[in-house]
Order: sequence, then structure tokens, then C-alpha cells
Amino acid sequence: MSLLKIKLHWQILIALVIAVIIGYYFPGAVEYLDWMGKMFLRGLKMVIIPLIFASIVSGVTSIGSGKSLGRIGLKTITYYISTSLLAILTGLILVNIIKPGVGIEMGFQESVTSLSTESGKINDILIRMIPENLIDSMAKGDILPIIFFAILFGFFITQVADSYKQPLTNFFEGLFEVMMRLTMFIIRFTPLGILGIVSGEVARNSDKLANLAGSMAIYMLTVIIGLTIHAVITLPLILRLVARVKPIKHIRNMATPLLTAFSTVSSSATLPLTMEAVEHKSGVSNKISSFTLPLGATINMDGTALYECVAAMFIAQAYGIDLSFTEQMIVVFTALLASIGAAGIPMAGLVMITVVLTAVDLPLEGVGLIIAVDLILDMMRTTVNVWSDSCGAVTIARSEGEETNVA
Ligand code: ASP
Repeated sequence: MSLLKIKLHWQILIALVIAVIIGYYFPGAVEYLDWMGKMFLRGLKMVIIPLIFASIVSGVTSIGSGKSLGRIGLKTITYYISTSLLAILTGLILVNIIKPGVGIEMGFQESVTSLSTESGKINDILIRMIPENLIDSMAKGDILPIIFFAILFGFFITQVADSYKQPLTNFFEGLFEVMMRLTMFIIRFTPLGILGIVSGEVARNSDKLANLAGSMAIYMLTVIIGLTIHAVITLPLILRLVARVKPIKHIRNMATPLLTAFSTVSSSATLPLTMEAVEHKSGVSNKISSFTLPLGATINMDGTALYECVAAMFIAQAYGIDLSFTEQMIVVFTALLASIGAAGIPMAGLVMITVVLTAVDLPLEGVGLIIAVDLILDMMRTTVNVWSDSCGAVTIARSEGEETNVA
């Protein structure tokens, strides 16, 4: 399975090279490839709503029905949300300082719909989070109200009698499984989608290509610096100050899962190795690791959260769209939700970026820009995702009075 995924990444790399060559040297051929990119983007849009709905409902019900709920659950969620937010803020600060997208001036600003002026104040966002009509929100692809409803819906599933709870939980888990497979199916077509999208972008922007390549490198660097700060400063500080353990010792124990995460590009695929290392090498009890790690692999994605924020801001900059403070806060919030909603599979973060883009009315075509360098960034953010899960398990174990092997 993982071999297959790595193969897909190779296919993507090859498609990229071909797309750049076609777009640059044979721009006339682009009109024959265009449809593949369009179909691919439509495919992604097709899965967004059911995927995030099923993923959030099943995620919330699995938290709510866990045996170790309560204190440990609360600590776990607090750790997940605060480290994800720290990661996003690191990314937001960097992207505002480095401004990797400014000056790219993508050639299709004309097609960009202007940002809705009503986005305005914070209380507007809060009000608009509550759907007036769920079906209407779904039809319009209005993500925030859907997420809001899904969280409440999932929570109240856990509050009803077992005879109702069980079938509903099963149903949403099943739905999530199906949506994951459907998404994976669409992801298989990424090389073709890329061929269509990237060749078109290159042909339209060939005169600015050198400029674009430079900006892409700076964009990648922004993400990489952010991920590095989070992985080697922020998380070790939490280990040192909150968990009171030795970060170096823990990271050594985690070498195998971290390398596996890097090469499989999937935190879910890495999960068995993460559990093994956290339990047997760093000495966290099975009770804590079996609760926190599977949950973490699904909802705690610091690397992805940081990436979502930087990528969305980069796209806004590239299209010359100035995001106000409030809009940047929506980016922070949706990046957090997107990272929670993203599955632990390759390129899930790329699918989820559409959630962030939609929330602040940024052009979805922007995905075509960042898709080009997604492979490397996916490898790195997945590694950070797994690293953060493992640090969370240690931190929570220590807060529960466990000795561990890394103290
Ligand atoms: N590949 C990442 C993971 O499995 C998710 C993502 O695409 O950001 O953790």
C-alpha cells in the first residue's frame, strides 16, 4: 500500500516535469490538457463536503465514546489545539515577514472574484458560523457552518441512548471510510490533474517563470523554516518545561517512526510504528498511548496546520489579494479546522487547503500553484505531525504521573 503511494509521488514528479515542459515549450498543446485539470479540481470539490462532514462527526463521536474520556480527553484536546495553534501562528508570522507570494502577480487576477466585503467583524464570523439552513450551506460549500453543525451533531450522538448511538456511530465511521476511499481514488488521478493544471499555469505565466520559480523556492523555505522552528524549538520546549523530560532522548527513540512518516507521507500508515516507539522506547503506558496516538494521527496535525496557513496566505499574496486582520484570523481558524479534518494520508493537506481558500473567498485555482511543490512539503509536515503526536503522548503521560524512559 505504502509502496503504491510512493509510486504515486514519483508519477506526480514525472507529470510535473512533463507539464512544465509542455507549458513552456508547447503552449499550444495546453488547450488539449486543460480538461484534465478541470476534472481533477471538480473531483476534489466533489468530495470536500461529505468528507469533512463524515470525518468530523466520526472524530467527535470517537472522542466522546472513548473509555478514557474526561480528564485525559480534555488534556489531550488541549494539547492538540494549543500546539496546532502555536504552529499556525509561527507560520502566520513567517509568511507575513517573508511574504513569499508578493510580486508573483499571477496572470489571471481578472478571474478572481473580489473578497466579500461583508466578512467584517469577528461577531459577524461567529454569527455566520451558525447555519440558517444546513442544506443551503452544503450547496454553497459554506464550510464553517458545516463544521459547526458537524461538531454539535457528533457530540449529541454520544449523548443519546446506546441503541441509537451505536448505529449512528457505525454509520458515520462507515461513511468516513467510504469518503476516504473515494478521496484516495481521486488522488490517484493527481498526476493527470497536475498535467492539466500546471501546464496551463506555466503556459499562461511562462514569461514570469523565473520570477515564479524564485517565489516558489521562497514559499517552500517559509514552510520549512516554520516547520523546523516548531519541531526543534516549540515542541522540545513543551517537552522540557511542561513534561519535564529530555527532548533529545525522546527524539532518538522516535527515529524510526519519524523516518517512516517522512517516506510514507502518511501519519496513519506510520501509527503502528509510532505506538511501538512511544510505548516501548519512550516508556509511555499503553493506556495513554492507545488513546492519544490514534486520535492524534487523525486530528493532531501541527505540520499540516502550519502548512495550511502559509499556503493560503501565499496564494492570497500571489493573487495580489490583501487579507485584513479579520480574514487572517479566519485563515488561522480554518487552518486549525482543516488540520483537524485532514486524514493522515498523503496529500490530505492539499485537499483541505480548499477549505481554507473557500472560507476567505480565495481562488481555488491557487491549488495549481502550490501542488507543484507539495511532495517535499508533505513529507516534512507529516514528520512534524507524527513528532507532535508523540510529544503529546509523553506530555500527557507525565501529567498523569507516569515515570517514562525519557525523564
Ligand atoms: N500527509 C499528511 C499526514 O498524513 C497529511 C497532510 O497531507 O498534510 O499526516
